[in-house]
This record gives sequence, structure tokens and C-alpha cells, in this order.
Amino acid sequence: MMAEVAVFETVAAMRAAVAGWHAAGEAVALVPTMGALHDGHVALVAEARKHARRVIVSIFVNPTQFAPHEDFKKYPRTFEGDRARLEAIGADAIFFPSVEEMYPAGFATRVLLLGPAAVGLEDRFRPTHFEGVATICCKLFTQSRADFAVFGEKDYQQLQVVTRMARDLDLGITIVPLATIREADGLAMSSRNRYLAPEERALAPALHQAMQALAARIRNGEPLAVAVSETQMQVIGAGFELDYLEARHAWTLAPVTALADGPIRILVAARIGATRLIDNIAV
Ligand code: AMP
Repeated sequence: MMAEVAVFETVAAMRAAVAGWHAAGEAVALVPTMGALHDGHVALVAEARKHARRVIVSIFVNPTQFAPHEDFKKYPRTFEGDRARLEAIGADAIFFPSVEEMYPAGFATRVLLLGPAAVGLEDRFRPTHFEGVATICCKLFTQSRADFAVFGEKDYQQLQVVTRMARDLDLGITIVPLATIREADGLAMSSRNRYLAPEERALAPALHQAMQALAARIRNGEPLAVAVSETQMQVIGAGFELDYLEARHAWTLAPVTALADGPIRILVAARIGATRLIDNIAV
């Protein structure tokens, strides 16, 4: 019979379970999410299982990483479906705290980020986003005392920021990356894809196709700046509103000017109507 997935709403309950697992010599992996789970999240849980006997999935739509004009209120919340899905794939526990549990009255701390959090990509368009992400991840890591945390490359800058923070602050957790899971047509899976109207959904895969073509051009030695700016124009011409489409160093996210400056990562953020899509690929 399928084991029931435990649901912890408090830090104390999660910690008690983790203490028991650690006492039994079992490693623990955490998969932080905002819920509205899709196959990308399921793949993170499968990856977590490779590293640890016990897997906790946190589901928390974190208010501090949304700007006032962003979609915090309407972000999809589908807890019952998420719970059933996690039970079916054998996750051990869900951490499902309230906003009050995570941010009690008087909460007044943020993690200050430098390096990959300040390179003019997501941070340029969402200036307070990463301090919210880093603060909640720091809390989740220390609350859970997990040994591993699994993050998707889908949010590539976030992955670099969190990896850097875990090292810099000696958080005692190993960050495990996982490649982006895509729909059959190449669109990166995202909880926000459900916002796309049918004609917008039909356009969306053109973003990944443009990035693949750009990666091939760069690999073939075409002048990088020309290839990037032609791709930007092509994406805008296809009907996207472009926040950025850039080639960066894969680890530092610093600007690059030639293939030899690599390894190179292409990162993009583009809007179709009201929906903002982000994606990235290796060159
Ligand atoms: P979210 O619930 O969107 O905040 O994402 C939670 C985690 O899932 C993050 O580590 C994301 O990078 C990861 N993730 C989201 N979409 C995908 C995807 N298509 N493939 C792999 N990981 C993903």
C-alpha cells in the first residue's frame, strides 16, 4: 500500500521528523517549490531520491520574492492535487507553512546578495526578487536541517545565487542542480504556463527554438554580439516583448564577448501578453 505523505505545517513538526531520520542515519533532501506542481518538480523529487533516503517537498508561495505589481495573489495554489501527486511518487513529507509561520510579526531580516545576484539579468527587472528568494531558502535550509536541496536549472540565476549563498554562509547543505524539464515542443515547464491562452501557448516554443539556433551560431564561431542582437530582433519580431536575451559566462553570469570567454549560457526573459517566461540553455 502507498505510504501516506506527511504534511508538516510548523517548523517544529518538520524538525522533529528530520531529527528522527538523522538519528536513524538517513540523509534528508529538500525540494523547495511554490506548488502548482508539474513534471519538472516531479523530476526534482526523483533527483532528490538519488541523494537521500528521505525527501521533503516544501510548498510555500513566498510573498517577499514578489514585487507589489506581480502575481502573488493570483499565483496558482493547488494543494490537494500537489499532495496527491507527491504521495503517488513517494515523497516522505510536505512542508506547507503559513505566511505567519515563516514571517512572524516583527520579522525584519533579509539576506544581502552580491555576485551572481547583481549582474543585470532577472535582478534588473525584479530588483527585490532574489533577496526574497535567498531569505526564504536560507530559512528553509536551517529550518529543515536537510543535507541536500535540489534546484532546477530552469531558474538558472536563482540556482547560481542559492549555490553561492549556501557556500558563503556555510549553511551545511549541498545544492544539487537538475536540468530543465521541457514539454515535447521544447517549452520549459512552468507553473505559469497555465496562464497562456491557446494562441500564446502556440507561440511560446519559438523562444526555445530561437535560443537553440543562437547557441548553434555561437558554437559555429559567428561573431557573438551580432548573433545575439539578430536573435533579439527575431524574438521581438515573432511577437514577444523582450526583457533580456543575453549570452553570459555560465558560472559568474558576467558578460562575454566571444566563444573563448566561455563556458557560455544563454539566458532569456520574455513576455507574451501578461505572462512572463524565462528560459536558458548551454552553448
Ligand atoms: P517554483 O515552484 O516554480 O518556484 O520552482 C521550484 C523549483 O522547481 C525550482 O528549483 C525551479 O528551478 C524548479 N523548476 C521549475 N520548473 C522546472 C523545470 N521545467 N525543470 C526543472 N526544474 C524546474
